[in-house]
Amino acid sequence: MKVIKFGGSSLANATQLRKVFNIVKSDSSRKIVVVSAPGKRSSDDEKVTDLLIQLATSHIEGNYDEEVLKKILVRYKEISDELELKPEVFELVRIHFKNLKERNDLSSEYLMDAYKASGEDLNARLIASYFNQEGLAAKYVGPREAKLWVSDTPGEARVLEESYHELEYLQLTNEVIVFPGFYGVTKEGKIVTFSRGGSDITGSILANAVNADEYENFTDVDAIYVASPKIVHKPLPIDVLSYTEMRELSYAGFSVFHTEALLPSIKKGIPVHVCNTNNPEASGTYIMKGKVTSPNVISGIASSPGFVSIYVKKYLMNHEIGFLRKVLTIFEEEGISIEHIPTGIDDATIIIRGEDATDEQLESIVERFYAELDVDEASFTRGLCLIMLVGEGMVNMVGTTARVASTLARTQINIELYNQGVSEVSMMFGILDQYEKKAIRALYDEFFGEEKEYQVVE
Ligand code: ASP
Repeated sequence: MKVIKFGGSSLANATQLRKVFNIVKSDSSRKIVVVSAPGKRSSDDEKVTDLLIQLATSHIEGNYDEEVLKKILVRYKEISDELELKPEVFELVRIHFKNLKERNDLSSEYLMDAYKASGEDLNARLIASYFNQEGLAAKYVGPREAKLWVSDTPGEARVLEESYHELEYLQLTNEVIVFPGFYGVTKEGKIVTFSRGGSDITGSILANAVNADEYENFTDVDAIYVASPKIVHKPLPIDVLSYTEMRELSYAGFSVFHTEALLPSIKKGIPVHVCNTNNPEASGTYIMKGKVTSPNVISGIASSPGFVSIYVKKYLMNHEIGFLRKVLTIFEEEGISIEHIPTGIDDATIIIRGEDATDEQLESIVERFYAELDVDEASFTRGLCLIMLVGEGMVNMVGTTARVASTLARTQINIELYNQGVSEVSMMFGILDQYEKKAIRALYDEFFGEEKEYQVVE
């Protein structure tokens, strides 16, 4: 049995939905179909989820925006009409929003999630009707009836362990199940969504629960590429990646597959297959258990700008027991999550994501370092870009760091910091944000340029 998930761009209009239908119909093992909300039809279009957030915000702020509601209704109406669905199907959409508008029993964060979840929920109902109309026996099953239980953390749901057992029965289905992605239900019955892009997580949870042979994740690219196609012209596709490599790459900006979605599949060793709805014949990318060494030393190069480095220096820091703990406690008290901490003998650099702290918060942290820890120097700098080179093959090769460093030096880019764990699956370089594209292109040429394409790992 396969669990198959379609992203928003695969479900944006009736043309896309016809492709989805053909893909599902062409393989009888595709029994559980997880769907996103309708996405963008073109690059300047709006995603239904974004519209729902606008609508929810207007409702919460007491100035309900009828114009946004209209845009959402038009999206579903167009799809229903083009697919020639029975009028009842669209009627359900209209009634759903009418009821939601009248809800006054939910606090704002739960109301927001109820709106956000509508995008996938209504789409799943609509798609189930469409499949049946086309002669494919299908039914809508949602998180409430199937008991996909999640934590009571609006916008950041985590699946509860017992859900896996509850969802297991879905494997007995004869009909195709169309399941809305992106949300679950708390034990108290409230709708709570995963983080953005979270339909991938739903698919992975279901794949785990029903012990799927494969989790197919259909999106709008032929494969995951070794570098971002937004930066490198026609980068090479990746055939196979290990779970660890994918985790490292998505940490640093590879957004094809949601980072949190890997875990449920990892637990059961279920292969994740990233495929293209617009080109289902393309071989796609497999994300698998174990070590898969690519013919190149490096499997992928990712980059993520906008980090902040907070520098702290104190003479004889290495002798002062508990110093780093005190530094970290200050971040914990300020509620800021830390990403990396490269250290020297007398200094440490704490790296955080730019969006996690305001300048005021950072200034206050620096002041606390002086006041509470008696440091010699403390400061913060925004605009750090982390470049991650990932590859299980690196451990077998000597000189990869040197190649990276000399490529950056040749390109006149200064390395602000460097970090590599002993597992050697990835190495991380910090450079200034403005050099991101230049660095990625130079590194791509170094590791994947034509003459290096077939380099063999010793
Ligand atoms: N529709 C949701 C979002 O845009 C979830 C998803 O598509 O995976 O974030």
